[in-house]
Amino acid sequence: MTGYKHLFQPIQLRGMVVPNRIAFPGMTIGFGVDEYGCLTQQYTSYLAERARSGAGMIILSSTLVHPPALGLLGPDRLALWQDSTMSGLAGLVETIHGYGVRLGIQLCQLPGRLAKTEEELANAARPARQLPTNDGMTKEDILVAVEAYGAAAERCVRAGFDFVEINAGYEYMLSNFLSPSRNTRTDEYGGSFENRIRVLVELVRRIRTGIPGGMPIGVKVNGDDFLPDRSWTLPEACRLAPLLEKEGVDYLHVSGGLRGAQRWVIPPMYEEQGAYAYLASEVKKHTALPVMAVVRIKRPEMADRLIRENKADLVAMGRAQIADPEMVQKARSGNAADIRPCLGDCLGCINPFYKEMKASASCTVNPEMGREHVAHRTPNAAPGNASRRVLVAGAGCAGLEAARTAAEHGYQVWLCDRRGFIGGQLRLAAMMPKRQEIGDIVSWYERQLNKMKVKMLLNTLVDAGLLEELGPDFVVVATGSIPEVPLGFIEGLNNIQNVDLMTVDEYLEDQRPVGDNVLILGGDQVSLQLADFVSERAAAVCLAGNEDLLASKMAVMDRDYLERRLRGKENVRIFNKVHKVEVLPADEIRIVREAGGEQLRNIDSIIFAGRRCPNSHLLEMASGMGIPAQSIGDAKGCQGEDQGTILAAIASGREVVSQLALS
Ligand code: SF4
Repeated sequence: MTGYKHLFQPIQLRGMVVPNRIAFPGMTIGFGVDEYGCLTQQYTSYLAERARSGAGMIILSSTLVHPPALGLLGPDRLALWQDSTMSGLAGLVETIHGYGVRLGIQLCQLPGRLAKTEEELANAARPARQLPTNDGMTKEDILVAVEAYGAAAERCVRAGFDFVEINAGYEYMLSNFLSPSRNTRTDEYGGSFENRIRVLVELVRRIRTGIPGGMPIGVKVNGDDFLPDRSWTLPEACRLAPLLEKEGVDYLHVSGGLRGAQRWVIPPMYEEQGAYAYLASEVKKHTALPVMAVVRIKRPEMADRLIRENKADLVAMGRAQIADPEMVQKARSGNAADIRPCLGDCLGCINPFYKEMKASASCTVNPEMGREHVAHRTPNAAPGNASRRVLVAGAGCAGLEAARTAAEHGYQVWLCDRRGFIGGQLRLAAMMPKRQEIGDIVSWYERQLNKMKVKMLLNTLVDAGLLEELGPDFVVVATGSIPEVPLGFIEGLNNIQNVDLMTVDEYLEDQRPVGDNVLILGGDQVSLQLADFVSERAAAVCLAGNEDLLASKMAVMDRDYLERRLRGKENVRIFNKVHKVEVLPADEIRIVREAGGEQLRNIDSIIFAGRRCPNSHLLEMASGMGIPAQSIGDAKGCQGEDQGTILAAIASGREVVSQLALS
């Protein structure tokens, strides 16, 4: 039974009883809506997978109440201005209600002028990365918007939704009225606090007139925009709360951040877990309304504590339920240790939208995210699988996922690693400052593999003798990669006399000592994180990479936090766009860039942390012995844009077994 008694208490919101305090919040996912703005089976399956676990409430992500002015529909933007969207939504409501979960819908609108004509809409181009204000809206436009919110809410009532949530946070239309940084109007909708909140109040009133008396309205609002200038701040959020209470709002959902803010809307693992819960907690002191906390609340322990300590009444756990759709059920049944942890790396769920507007979300640790509608992906222990033996060589993240998936499919599985522990590069990655959460997934895999009785052979090198002895039917080569010495990048290496040379693996794994002044060669994510790590152990660190953009495979917000961390360290120097590194007499090092050269003296140690090459010789060996084999993860390739990340490795571990199952 659960130990989280506060989390699993029901709560009443107006006429609606929510069975527990966990919400699955609306998140941008980049899929699930067709070109007409209607729901697809992919979206229904994605939500149903989470509803099955029994969250108290699910909030459907940001929908559009009016045709967007400057852009076309996105691939996950439901068109709530048309009746034709509603039949699909009614089906979704029925599905989610089947699991006893309350379903709400987030009403919002892209910022900017509202479109007036079909022609304008047809010719519109989607705005990207701009920071628009609503200054161009006429009062007539505002009336149209308020009416559109009201009409959309009424349609949602007809579709059977339990509640609506107005999204007045982030960069949508309403926050662009609330925030002084975005709102520079000089009429009654701009300037003072009362003026900036006016449109929100007007549309709350409009919605309330058109929905049943017992139906709750929630408002999502920023507790702080975290902008350096003219920011909407916590005192304003606290001032807004009692006013919305008076207007008949039923709960507040408190988040933070706008584009360009010091802290991201979706912060990565460099922020503490529950980093924005203090915003909800502070707002709660100013209102009797239930308040929902959100952002990096990953574990039921933290969620339960927030409620027990009266810092929140509801807890939105988005990424936690993306990483493990069964999170709620596992917490409820006392199996919290089995919850697959969200890493907080933002790589699958958030980063795609910063790289490409038409991207789809995925998840680093959950390769099934977004594929819930594809039946054949469901683990299927086919008859006959139990007699087939799969040997997975390498217990890094690719191998761990392959072994787990193979066991899930009912195969006999051996997992071998030359090291005396599992986790491979993950263990090294988790040593980096502020990145220990990555290690949580290793503990999770260990627990799952033990439960599934996967035979783990550690301190075991897979060679011809072992293959002959075990006689596997299939070999998964997950032996990772080996760091390269970048001979084309550094000249004169043979002339080095008194500088220690080592690879990143030798430094971290073999714990080779470094001197006071360290040069790291490489510009990928490992190199940048390593600079952070070394800076806490050496007097001075220099990093030289030939890439324009360092650590390009990190999620953009993750990289942003890391770069700021490094910029704040006086003993770290970073050089990108380096053409080459020259070793001069007396061990002087010259960094050659287009912008000019830089001489480094007294370098004690050089760490090679850049390119790696696949370690896949086992593939040839197994194939030569007539055993079907396939390489995955870094052993297959690590330099391509979609390779060399935890996300790619885990996905390949899952994929290889799916292919095996189909063969
Ligand atoms: S991609 Fe990373 S941050 Fe996002 S849900 Fe998955 S594990 Fe969590």
